[in-house]
This record gives sequence, C-alpha cells and structure tokens, in this order.
Amino acid sequence: MADESTVLIRKCSICKTNLEIGLNNLDEAIYYNKTHYHSECFIEAAINKSKNSNKRVSEKWNNILKNISDIRLASEKRFETEIYKEKVFDFIRDNYGVTVVPTNLYTRLADIYSGKFKGMSKGIPPKYLLDMWKKQIRGLNKIADKNKTRGKYMDTSQRLVYDTAILINKYDSYLAWLEQKKIIEADTVCKAKKTSDINADVYMQAFNNSKKPLSDDTSCACAKDFSSIADEIFDD
Ligand SMILES: [Zn+2]
Repeated sequence: MADESTVLIRKCSICKTNLEIGLNNLDEAIYYNKTHYHSECFIEAAINKSKNSNKRVSEKWNNILKNISDIRLASEKRFETEIYKEKVFDFIRDNYGVTVVPTNLYTRLADIYSGKFKGMSKGIPPKYLLDMWKKQIRGLNKIADKNKTRGKYMDTSQRLVYDTAILINKYDSYLAWLEQKKIIEADTVCKAKKTSDINADVYMQAFNNSKKPLSDDTSCACAKDFSSIADEIFDD
C-alpha cells in the first residue's frame, strides 16, 4: 500500500546509523530524552549501564528499564504522530498541486493539531485530520469549483485556509461518526453482514449528497443509524 510508505529518517545516537521509522516498524525505535535510538541499541546500552559500579548510574538505568514499556509506548505514539504529519503534507502536495507546502500552513496545521487555533476546544490529531481530509476532498473540490463559477477565485494558499476551516468545523461530527462506527463494528450481527463495506458506501453516498437508498438491507438497524449520522456530517 502506497499509504504505508512514509518513513521518518533519524539517526541512532548509539550506533550512528540511520533509523527508518514507518508505521509498520514503530517498535524498532525509541525516543528518549530528545534523542533517537534503535530499540535494541537503547535496551542493550540501558542493561550495560544498569550494571554500572556507580550506584547513581545503575539506579537511574534500572529505573529506565523498569519503565521501558511506557517509554516504548510514548515513543511509538510520537513517531506515529510525526508520520501522519508527513502524510498530511504528502496529501496536500498530491491534491492541491503544490510542490512546496505554503509556509502559513505550517503554523496553521501546528495550531490545529494542538487545538490552539482560534475557536477550537481541542486539537485534531494528524491521523484524524488526514482521514477527514481524504474523505472530504471530493466535496472540497466541488465547493472550490462552485466558488470559481461564482467568480470567487482563491489561490492555493487561500484555498488551503478555507478548506482547513471546513475540516475544523466538521471535526465534532467526525468524532461522532467514529464513535458510531466503533459501535457498529462491535456489533456482531452487523459484522456478519460486512457492515464495514456498507459504511464505506454510506459515507460516499452521503458525501455525494445522493438521495438513493443507502442499502436494501434494512434488517441491519445500526447501519441505518449510521446513515443518519453520515448525512448530518455531509449535509452542507
Ligand atoms: Zn542503533
């Protein structure tokens, strides 16, 4: 999957070789004390230091080893977030015809992730922003076309500001949709009916404002619940 191809290149502070961190090998790297390491290099060094004759050193590293699963978890989360930030940039480059992401967008995205952007009550994780953006891009392109025919022309930088504002406004509905999706996925009856496939259709149909019935299979009540939520999300 091309989507899996984004890797972060960092240097291991111990063996001085490059670390290539992707979504499928997040556990192979550790970020500790603002420094990057191979997991193996870090653990090996930690074990050695935990045997140091200096008691303070050995205590410190024994403690680190005791908390190693938390350190690994925090590292993986951090790397995952960084990878998704890269993916957001890739997505912008691929879909907005820019080779360089406009500088004003860097600050804007950072504020969106942290929730500091005006009017936001919480940040949007890059993973969610990317997912929303992918699902909304066709609709956003349509809005841009409509604006153009009405004589409201925006350059790419302006459009990115405009589009991100739309995405921010949709975030609460997106979270509600995610929550609903989780409930649906947990429902074994619906699972048996391959609801995840239905969901994708529902999502796209709502997205296209299609008035077509969503599914002939009305026996799956939760799929119906989902469709009403999806309609709300995309009812522009
Ligand atoms: Zn290393």
